[in-house]
Amino acid sequence: ALDDEQTPRKEYLEVLQRCFGHKTFRPMQWKIISSIINDKRDNCAIMATGYGKSLCFQYPSVYIGGVTIVVSPLISLMEDQVLSLTMSNIGACLLGSAQNNKRQVLDDIFDNKYSLIYLTPEFCCGDYGQDLLKQMHQNLSIILIAIDEAHCVSSWGHDFRYQYRELGKLRRILPNVPILAVTATATPKVRSDIISCLNLRNPQILCSGFDRPNLEFSVYLKGNTGLFPDLRKVMTDKSKSWGFPGSTIIYCITRKQTEEVADILQAKGVKCLAYHAGLPIKQRKDAHELFVRDKIKVIVATIAFGMGIDKPDVRNIIHYGASKDIESYYQEVGRAGRDGQPSICVTFYRPADFDLHQNIREMSGTSDVNRARRDGMEKIMLQYLETRDCRRQFILNHFEGSVTPKKPKPKCCDNCTRKLSQTVSDSNKYEGLDEHGLYDFTKDTLTFLNAVEAMGGKFGIGMYILLIRGSKSTKLYSSYQKHPLYGSGKYQNEEWWKCIGRLLERENYLKKTVPNNRFKSKKTFSFGTYSVSDKGKQFIQDMKQEPTATKK
Ligand code: ADP
Repeated sequence: ALDDEQTPRKEYLEVLQRCFGHKTFRPMQWKIISSIINDKRDNCAIMATGYGKSLCFQYPSVYIGGVTIVVSPLISLMEDQVLSLTMSNIGACLLGSAQNNKRQVLDDIFDNKYSLIYLTPEFCCGDYGQDLLKQMHQNLSIILIAIDEAHCVSSWGHDFRYQYRELGKLRRILPNVPILAVTATATPKVRSDIISCLNLRNPQILCSGFDRPNLEFSVYLKGNTGLFPDLRKVMTDKSKSWGFPGSTIIYCITRKQTEEVADILQAKGVKCLAYHAGLPIKQRKDAHELFVRDKIKVIVATIAFGMGIDKPDVRNIIHYGASKDIESYYQEVGRAGRDGQPSICVTFYRPADFDLHQNIREMSGTSDVNRARRDGMEKIMLQYLETRDCRRQFILNHFEGSVTPKKPKPKCCDNCTRKLSQTVSDSNKYEGLDEHGLYDFTKDTLTFLNAVEAMGGKFGIGMYILLIRGSKSTKLYSSYQKHPLYGSGKYQNEEWWKCIGRLLERENYLKKTVPNNRFKSKKTFSFGTYSVSDKGKQFIQDMKQEPTATKK
């Protein structure tokens, strides 16, 4: 066994090659598998998307014989796995409340025909499922319980499922069977929730690195001129026919958007298909297959697409609309470049995207357990989108805790590229960038703060933007039309100024005041007013004395 701890013996590798077609285990896979096979130990494994979670729970029962119970939240994902195992001659089946031929499947289960039995969480926590598990425990050798997407147990996670909470029962029904909990995303809070909810005993806790060095990240604000001018930034134009470099998934927030985007692209001659959960299953399967077989290069989809697709050479993940939180985002972009080749992840967003997510939650009745927590998660996503620093660093900091900062690198993210860019002298193209290639916020900051001062700090961000942008809206008193600042910030769009506003709030140049009683009457809900803070006033003062200085 000592030998096993470091390197797997030949027998292990033979089974790996014969049944799964892989030559070696990835280091973390082997750590998990050997602790299950040799020590019957519980494991809580956090593995970045694409690392190879499934093998960890599929291998043990194939190697030792016996049965592994797998619980996963998504039927489609389980169906995919059952199919691909069956094709590799590994016995696998799925039991859920909606499955047909249950009788036959049950007979086969007790005839020991399956190495892997996939169950929905509803099924295995219901009375019928629990009885069945007890019978299996008496008649078969169950060697492992695997809980896939284990973060679903935690209301601190991004994808809390009510039924997952009940999975702790499995420990009682199958007392001596090791449990493997796997997930791609888990902060320390989520991790401790997983361990306590599932009643794990002295688990081995492992965490793969989260970095995906072959992915390059960039973010754009959605422009005002429509979708195509946006997407063109990441498209190729080969002899006047538009396309994308390699297989591409374009994620949209709503079903309607996927169809709109697909229509626009098709009108430009790009062969693509829309994909969302509202389409007939046949149409979805076809789209899936055409994409995996490279018959079609572009899929415009909601996040329903991608769970369980195993296409290693997706070159571009484009988000047309912000993801709801950074966990989801990283899982979605994780579908790019599983073959290790360079791939790009581009997001086009506007802050209002988060309102759409909220609407979707409300409509689907999955309104949040905790609104404040949800707001916090959105804030982190927004910070990612708005950061001027390395985006990879931001992600790794989020998942792995503080990571020592590194110098900007090429092919890392748009912010690194900009910092590295030496072509600042090209002043048309890089207007507003300083000698390091960084956007110089001095002028915008001053414009914004002066507008706030001019209006006495009594309004919300939107009102100051009306002044800066020279709006004709009746919300803005007409006397302001003569103010020297009126229209002084026309050179940037509204979204830009909103970002500046939020940036200034975050950096404490602006102070927010929320009235004690927000609901004065039903009509006048107050979102709070923004005034210039002492730090902001100091900044204005400094700039007066030193008009050419360039500070942030
Ligand atoms: P995850 O669920 O962690 O995102 P998967 O289990 O779907 O990842 O595996 C991702 C990819 O890695 C799949 O294409 C799989 O075939 C491949 N893979 C898994 N383990 C190995 C291995 N030991 N050697 C080579 N490829 C592997």
